[in-house]
Amino acid sequence: MTENSMKSCGLDPVDWEDFRSEARRMLEASIDQLQQVAERPWQAVPEAVKEGYTVRAEGCDAGEMVGRITEEVLPYHGGNIHPRFWGWVQGSGLASDLIAGMAGAVINANTGGRDHGANYMERAVIDWTREKMGMPEGSSGVLVAGTSQATVIAFQAARLRVLPQLRKTGQGTARLIAYAGEGIHNATSKALELLGIGSDNLRLLPLVEGQIDLGALRAQIARDRAAGGLPFLLVGMAGSVDLGAYDDLNGLADVAADEDLWLHVDGAFGAWTRIAEQPWRGLSDGIGRADSIALDFHKWMYVGYDCGLVLIADEAAHRAAFAARPAYLEAAERGLAGGDPWFCDYGIDLSRGNRALKIWTALEMYGEAALAAAISDNCRLAALMAQEVEARPEMGLAAPVVSNVCVFTARADLTPQAQSLLNSEIAQSLQERGEAVFSTTRVQGVVMLRAAMTNHRSRDADIRAALAAVAALAAVG
Ligand SMILES: *Cc1c(COP(=O)(O)O)cnc(C)c1O
Repeated sequence: MTENSMKSCGLDPVDWEDFRSEARRMLEASIDQLQQVAERPWQAVPEAVKEGYTVRAEGCDAGEMVGRITEEVLPYHGGNIHPRFWGWVQGSGLASDLIAGMAGAVINANTGGRDHGANYMERAVIDWTREKMGMPEGSSGVLVAGTSQATVIAFQAARLRVLPQLRKTGQGTARLIAYAGEGIHNATSKALELLGIGSDNLRLLPLVEGQIDLGALRAQIARDRAAGGLPFLLVGMAGSVDLGAYDDLNGLADVAADEDLWLHVDGAFGAWTRIAEQPWRGLSDGIGRADSIALDFHKWMYVGYDCGLVLIADEAAHRAAFAARPAYLEAAERGLAGGDPWFCDYGIDLSRGNRALKIWTALEMYGEAALAAAISDNCRLAALMAQEVEARPEMGLAAPVVSNVCVFTARADLTPQAQSLLNSEIAQSLQERGEAVFSTTRVQGVVMLRAAMTNHRSRDADIRAALAAVAALAAVG
């Protein structure tokens, strides 16, 4: 690399041959990372590396940059690309992301609107998902950062359907009330807080066998109406974050129809059982009857971060809640300012990245059947983990496994307090040793080990080895 080849014309390379060979080096290192992913678990970032991330005034050439990224960035990932990572609910990423990422970087599309390829691709990807979910034709959608943002968009449409004037006035005298089951993800309360509805106006209903008690729901709605409240929103769970449980979505759709409520489904990961085999597919039956669905591609469709989607059955309500075009953004019949409708009219962002490309690349490259098989296999692995737990007399399941989440204690024979200490210790040790990543959750006050299978790289042998490692630590502990 000549010393000033990146500098003399400002920011573009002067010596393209040099840039080409350094970029190829980066590509090779990236492919090595993927190919050797099993040998590269999470590791703590050394202090010297953290300090190295500070921004320096001087530039460097591409060759030095590639070297630094290979040494200082690639090794210190979040662990979720490793085959024994089952913490929280995180996606594993796909080799197709690498191909899509290269193309995405060079076209640098802004998908807020206008007439160019990425917007047509986004419509195609959204429509494919709509059809899989069983939502009616003509439903609208927009790709967003994730389910958290999708939830805000859906709730705003729901709120304005009941009280359209709030778009201008912001607040009125009505007291809007929302309903969800206990254990709903906090994306729901956060969205209600952001919209000025307030999380105190979220009624958390008791669960019966992991599902909202529909009788209790109807009774609560009646009480709230009698007290002068304005029930407007019912939130169903397709894949609870703790246990992977599903509400009776058809039951909720019936209540929503009877009570004239907007039914939203949090399907962040669990919506994707729609394309799995039975019996798992049946868990999300009825999801297509929702007024809105929030889901992620970056969890259980394995696509790289970040990428979520909100789907809304009533396109007019969706657009009415968000469309706003000052004069400088007026659409045209022809040319680059054509291509109506524009995605900026369906969400919060005006400038938007090209999230559709990585989804489309994955769907086209692997085919729907391969992605669906990986989802079914994740459910099978969660069931296998449960079997392995039950085969060990000292361990205990927190709840039966219904989808892809397995929660258990390493020593059911200890006091709750001792179990909590031991399970936390086991989770941390396994992470630090790079053997496996479980996260923890509390079930009836006891800290438990939790595995969420949204990792297409995991195999039976990974489950067995991780359980053996838990057992060994539990025996010592
Ligand atoms: C992850 C998750 C969310 C939040 O989604 P983000 O994509 O992280 O914003 C909401 N609900 C459930 C059930 C989740 O698992």
